[in-house]
Amino acid sequence: MPFADLGLSPEVLRAVEEVGYVEPTPIQAQAIPYVLMGRDVLGSAQTGTGKTASFTLPMIDILTSGRARVRMPRSLILEPTRELATQVAENFDVYGKYHKLNQALLIGGESFAEQLKKLDRGVDVLIATPGRMLDLFERGKILLSDVKILVIDEADRMLDMGFIPDVERIVGLLPKIRQTLFFSATMPPEIRRLADAFLSNPKTISVAPPASPAAMVVQALAVVDHQDKRETLRHLLRTENVRNAVIFCNRKRDVDILHRSLAKHGFDASPLHGDMAQARRTETLDRFRNGEIAILVASDVAARGLDIEGLSHVFNFDVPIHAEDYVHRIGRTGRAGREGHAFTLASENDGRFVEAIEKLIGKPIPRVEILGIPTVGFEEKDARRGRRGEASESGRRGEASESRRRSSDRPRVSERKRSGERPAPETSAEIDSMPAKKPAAPQTEEKPVSHPTRHAPVRSGDRRSGDRRSRQPREQEGDQDAPVLAFGDHMPEFLKRPVKLPPLRKEEPEAA
Ligand code: AMP
Repeated sequence: MPFADLGLSPEVLRAVEEVGYVEPTPIQAQAIPYVLMGRDVLGSAQTGTGKTASFTLPMIDILTSGRARVRMPRSLILEPTRELATQVAENFDVYGKYHKLNQALLIGGESFAEQLKKLDRGVDVLIATPGRMLDLFERGKILLSDVKILVIDEADRMLDMGFIPDVERIVGLLPKIRQTLFFSATMPPEIRRLADAFLSNPKTISVAPPASPAAMVVQALAVVDHQDKRETLRHLLRTENVRNAVIFCNRKRDVDILHRSLAKHGFDASPLHGDMAQARRTETLDRFRNGEIAILVASDVAARGLDIEGLSHVFNFDVPIHAEDYVHRIGRTGRAGREGHAFTLASENDGRFVEAIEKLIGKPIPRVEILGIPTVGFEEKDARRGRRGEASESGRRGEASESRRRSSDRPRVSERKRSGERPAPETSAEIDSMPAKKPAAPQTEEKPVSHPTRHAPVRSGDRRSGDRRSRQPREQEGDQDAPVLAFGDHMPEFLKRPVKLPPLRKEEPEAA
């Protein structure tokens, strides 16, 4: 179906043609006619499907008639992150170039004065993150009684980030008679409940199974010792044909640590996470888009939905805790019909997370082994726990970091000490003082590796000869619930008392 059949105005069609789109994507073809009719829409679609244009294009035409009043926006688009909000604003600039609509972007980290100046001129489209939106409302700087169209984008991400109470408050401030467009990549029960509450007789549209990665992404999974992950990543960056890459970490702290480690090893990398000042985030993204920076080390929140043309590689330095994030992350590459590559680095206690991802995408991620770096297997205990699937999401987060901490603090440290290596540094200061790692030991005959990276695929759970874990007796693998103080082979009973570990600090969800 051509764009011309969707009912859009000649001006919007001209702008679309100038961007170079030949025909609408499935979500655009299905949603645009209903949005133009004034219907509510419940869209199950992830980024990369063209969903932004599916609401911006018809909104431009709808908002053409009528005028905005001072501090009374006529439409409101809620986005979970500043980057997504900025991208939506850019869409309005591009597609609305033949219209005279005013828009304002209300995001944290930017000056209030500038944003207020725009509101004073009257805005047709207000694009905001929930926190900043409420902030301004509470200061009495904005009135929401004239909002005729509400868009809630990436609702599942809002849920993950704890924004749903804010979203509910904002929706409560809007007129009851309005058009609502609600998009989410996944539809867990909590999101369905919200959709039922916010939407009235919506047209439900679902494009591509929410969990299917882009067909053009070549996926690979390397399972290595936790402490070999940095070396594995460097090896891949050097040997793969990486033009530009986003490397994902699960935690903001790790983004900084990994970035510094890569910089120390001479890679042209920059960090991107929610704790950075907005101006720096914007500048970093612009430089990455322009090709001035080749590697971005990012957190999920900061990089969600980023649309970077021709991204050649995505690396998951950490296996994502939420399986859906895997799909979102790797979807940054393999766009617009180009091939992309997604490498995931897992360590022995990531078994249950990998299992969840493979269940979600419906197939195993092909294993690869890396030249000079031993492949390890997943801990059985870990996989068993994952199969039970009882842990809550927040619980899983805590468990993940705890099991990681246990595995790196206990058997591995002593193992490294025996072999004269240092443990992996935990802080940036440690990275700076870290000596360059010794080159990997030469391959033994037993290890069938023929090429630096992609070579003998390894089956899940394989324990190769290079697997240091498999050579250890069970007692040394830290399998007991609590560590005991060492006393050779003859430990007196009184010394076997469990040592109480201090409670782990819970990682705060990243703010937009
Ligand atoms: P989105 O899902 O909105 O993040 O869009 C993903 C990418 O698809 C963006 O780079 C858009 O510019 C692009 N895009 C949107 N609509 C079309 C279309 N009809 N044809 C080709 N590319 C499109």
